[in-house]
Amino acid sequence: MEPTDHLKASLTAAIALANVFGAPTRQGRPAIAPDDEAIRAVLRLTTNRTIPIELHEYETGARQLYDALSLLPDVDAAVELINDLLRRTQAAPQLMREPGALWHLHFAAPGVSAATGWLAEFATAVAMLLGSHEAERLRRCAAERCDELFLDSTKNHTQRFCSTACQNRTKVAAHRARSA
Ligand SMILES: [Zn+2]
Repeated sequence: MEPTDHLKASLTAAIALANVFGAPTRQGRPAIAPDDEAIRAVLRLTTNRTIPIELHEYETGARQLYDALSLLPDVDAAVELINDLLRRTQAAPQLMREPGALWHLHFAAPGVSAATGWLAEFATAVAMLLGSHEAERLRRCAAERCDELFLDSTKNHTQRFCSTACQNRTKVAAHRARSA
């Protein structure tokens, strides 16, 4: 594992959590209120541990992540929100280790709730993104009725849609418009 792999997984989870709470429409449908399972699916992107879910504890921080990422390409404005979230979650890098595993970096300050600890980690992962040229790869889906944010993973930076579902939906709509 590369030293930064863990944070990459946390960045993926951070964007997913931001979408769960922040995106008004997702892949053509109005967003539904998140439930515990939605949070579990997000956390599974970055950890194998089973974590108790305090749904409401994630909301404010998750919305702040979404708002910050939505401000891109205005990095300065996004930084303000992420610095605020880093302070509020008391992000505190600490090396931790499960028995038999490698040490790895966690960002939960001692004594904070599980949700605050994860938000601290997600804010840190987004902070690393904002401090790099990779921030240019953060996009909003170009499809109608989809506000999902995603990280363009293509080599030539041409990804326009959050998913093949949105890409196909847009193709079908364009085809219908042409043949109407
Ligand atoms: Zn989409």
